[in-house]
Amino acid sequence: MRWGDMRPSDNVEDRSGAPSGGGFPLGGGGMRLGGGAIILIVIVSLVFGVNPLQFLGMMEGGGPVQAPVPQQAQPSPRTPASQPDPSKDFVRRTVGDTEDVWTALFRQMGSRYEPPTLVMFTGATRSGCGQASAATGPFYCPADRKVYLDTDFFNMLARRFGAPGDFAAAYVIAHEIGHHVQNQLGTMEKFEATAQRADARQRNALSVRLELQADCYAGVWGYYAAKRNLLDPGDVEEGLRAAAAVGDDAIQKAQRGYVVPDAFTHGSAEQRARWFRQGLTTGDPRSCNTFAAERP
Ligand SMILES: [Zn+2]
Repeated sequence: MRWGDMRPSDNVEDRSGAPSGGGFPLGGGGMRLGGGAIILIVIVSLVFGVNPLQFLGMMEGGGPVQAPVPQQAQPSPRTPASQPDPSKDFVRRTVGDTEDVWTALFRQMGSRYEPPTLVMFTGATRSGCGQASAATGPFYCPADRKVYLDTDFFNMLARRFGAPGDFAAAYVIAHEIGHHVQNQLGTMEKFEATAQRADARQRNALSVRLELQADCYAGVWGYYAAKRNLLDPGDVEEGLRAAAAVGDDAIQKAQRGYVVPDAFTHGSAEQRARWFRQGLTTGDPRSCNTFAAERP
């Protein structure tokens, strides 16, 4: 992904320990990854997506899948203050690009996009949805309209598995921004109202539709990134592999060895890749109506 050509966002709040919050090496750092390692990274980074059962607490994280316990944090290598942290720059520019795309799309819809703030933090921080920590993973808090991203989380992944692909990381961010779009469009409010009256199985099914829509919205952003030649060859495939790797069935199989469809909260590998592709190929948020689809 040619993220260096993207506009950096002004809506990124850096709560990580300055000047060196550490960084996660992005592509071209000399390390190569096999497909298995990429899948592992993405599973670990996305396994903590929206948890509908905790949605009343408006917190992403946890869910039927247990989060892997992060290893004892190792001291991150110091980055000289004079060197900009490439991982933070990557986050700023990816967020900035989602702002440009959604601002244009909202304008087409006769409305105004109000970009969320993305909070980068190290260790733990307070959010409008409770305490955020590395174990929570990336999440969107509708109450304070902020996306929370733990930079140490990426560091840990980078130390353990090598450099994650940049488009897979951008997909994580674009998916969380997709939840903000749902919030601004009122979809999230409707979801909560319906989910409150539903039983656990219905709530899971609704949550899957909400998550698949966020995947589709991430794809819509990808469509416009591709249109402006900001993607590298292979990025789309990398994103689709990432979306499939975080399917509930893929994660459940890896963790339990079997699949429990009723416990799905994010959608299967096939569903997630399909809805991400839907956004990537149409570039049209209206094509992301997972709630209207008979079988999403
Ligand atoms: Zn999500």
